[in-house]
Amino acid sequence: MEKRASAPRVRRAAESAKSGAVYVTTPAGADLNGCPLHDLRRKLSEAGLRPTRQRLRLGWLLFGGGDRHVTAERLYEEAIAARAPISLATVYNTLNQFTSAGLLKEVTVDGAKTYFDTNLADHQHFVVDDETHMLTDLPKELIDFSRLPEPPEGWEIARVDVMIRLRRKPQQ
Ligand SMILES: [Zn+2]
Repeated sequence: MEKRASAPRVRRAAESAKSGAVYVTTPAGADLNGCPLHDLRRKLSEAGLRPTRQRLRLGWLLFGGGDRHVTAERLYEEAIAARAPISLATVYNTLNQFTSAGLLKEVTVDGAKTYFDTNLADHQHFVVDDETHMLTDLPKELIDFSRLPEPPEGWEIARVDVMIRLRRKPQQ
């Protein structure tokens, strides 16, 4: 079972119902609605990527079910479960191509575990501080930077990445 189901939620219920369960992973191989194949083909073409069968297969798993954070290993497992014969190396290559083309953002946790984020909007993350490293999006309006250091002479701040770490409160 996907542990994501118990991810902390930050959006109001109405909003999340409207946007279609942003934090829920679509089971591998399930029928995906709202992202027809021609939209996916166009998305790839517009990003300058030829819509090969492998890219379409993985794109379908990635973009067909709302925003998500996925590791290469997890996507590989989903592709296998969906009976899509593909190698882990191809999954890595395809994810890197999608990232270079601007279709995904990389999020690294603890400098080791890399997630690929389909949410391209400006946002930050809650991360559960255990081995699951479960990520939840925080829309940028929820964080206010009231004070940032002056960058050194000749430099400017490109962006600020915030990872707010969560742990369960001790039982009473
Ligand atoms: Zn994210």
